[in-house]
Amino acid sequence: AQAEAEGVFWRAASINRDQLERSVSLMGELDAAIAAGQIEVHYQPKLALSSNRIASVEALVRWRHPQRGMVPPDAFIPLAEQSDRIGTLTLHVLGIVLRDAARWRDAGHRLTAAVNISAKLLTSPAFTSAADALLDDAPVALDALIFEVTESAAMADADAAVATLHHFRARGIAISMDDYGTGQSTLSYLQRLPLSELKIDRRFVQFAHERDADAALVRSTIELAHALRLTVVAEGIEEAETLALLTTLRCDYAQGYFISRPLAYDQLIVRLADADEP
Ligand code: C2E
Ligand code: CA
Ligand code: CA
Ligand code: CA
Repeated sequence: AQAEAEGVFWRAASINRDQLERSVSLMGELDAAIAAGQIEVHYQPKLALSSNRIASVEALVRWRHPQRGMVPPDAFIPLAEQSDRIGTLTLHVLGIVLRDAARWRDAGHRLTAAVNISAKLLTSPAFTSAADALLDDAPVALDALIFEVTESAAMADADAAVATLHHFRARGIAISMDDYGTGQSTLSYLQRLPLSELKIDRRFVQFAHERDADAALVRSTIELAHALRLTVVAEGIEEAETLALLTTLRCDYAQGYFISRPLAYDQLIVRLADADEP
């Protein structure tokens, strides 16, 4: 099984053996890391273009490793997905986000919070019931939450995944289609999933101000989403010109380094307080 897992990982990530060994040992440390408080959540603002206010934040996990420094999610999320640790990790992140959301609400800030949910978890009854237990005791209203899910072949085929999304939607949680345009069976998702939001992937957005073909894809995606009464987020905005273009195209929300990098909780509060000043 170890060899098979390695084979999968090699193909998926095409990394060298050093990196592989590091990742395998990382997974062994995950529970201890959670217990030791090394898993942190940073928040990247989504700017509402109509009001120019931060309307929402996306929770992005980080591992503050005592020897390795800040480990980005790309270095451990794929492995957590393959080793069945992703449920534990996601529940931990969700718990932190619910707690932080209550704190910023109590500080007078109104904003929704998005949590990334791996498609794989949507077919896990154990995850759904553990998440339900957490949500039953949530200190904030569940309509302050968004679950971001990515297009994946597994999701469109699995009735179970679709049913799980309907279940969370019925609890008041908004569902967002992440990395839109990079997966397959796109139209079938739009038809079957109880979506509120569509996030156009960075690769279409980033150079849209200088590439006509990209701009055309972004424009038509925004029109399609609006026709379906979905709100649209453009991710990966790194320049003023891109933000201006997205505003012209009537995109609803913008996210990217030009607006803000992901922020630790305390930095987010400072940023929100600055934004509230007249
Ligand atoms: P994502 O959901 O597409 O998140 C956006 C990623 O793009 C984040 O990277 C963010 O820091 C980065 N980003 C934001 N604005 C810009 C920009 O203007 N330019 C560029 N070049 N990049 C930008 P990050 O935090 O490293 O996360 C990477 C991926 O890891 C995420 O992609 C998401 O798929 C996954 N991830 C992060 N946190 C979680 C989590 O709690 N659970 C799960 N399942 N996946 C997570
Ligand atoms: Ca996301
Ligand atoms: Ca994304
Ligand atoms: Ca992306």
